[in-house]
Amino acid sequence: MEQTLMMVKPDAVARNLVGRILARVEESGLRVIRLRMVHLQAQEARAFYRVHEGRPFLDALVAFMSSGPIVVGVLEGEDAIRRWRDLMGATDPAKAAEGTIRKDFAENIERNSVHGSDAPETAREEIAFHALSLGLRG
Ligand code: UDP
Ligand code: MG
Repeated sequence: MEQTLMMVKPDAVARNLVGRILARVEESGLRVIRLRMVHLQAQEARAFYRVHEGRPFLDALVAFMSSGPIVVGVLEGEDAIRRWRDLMGATDPAKAAEGTIRKDFAENIERNSVHGSDAPETAREEIAFHALSLGLRG
């Protein structure tokens, strides 16, 4: 069993898409084992995306991710990291496959509705980052 971190980003929360996105997760067979709505401060969003330090899109991304509430969750299942990324689709919705969340819901490459961890180590780090919000031991 593998775990991955999901976030429903502010653009999707603002457009009432939380339920439809969670329905896709559940219909896929992945289990939602932790779930919480939070509003990140800018410094928290910057810390979460510190791997992108120096990239030209970081300041705008931090402003976006702290602009409103998000939903943070932990998904569990066999091959959960890859399966959740497959459901999400490519980062740029213009390049995302038919039937993916980003193809159907994302506004653009920044406001792309969802986040998913990209590897086992980042999944562990990202779940730990949100541990307090998710009621997990830090
Ligand atoms: N992003 C952006 N412009 C870019 C690339 C990424 O605004 O050119 C944002 C987008 O919200 C993306 C996040 O930064 O989801 C993290 O980028 P990453 O390359 O890790 O994409 P992801 O893993 O989310 O598909
Ligand atoms: Mg990423």
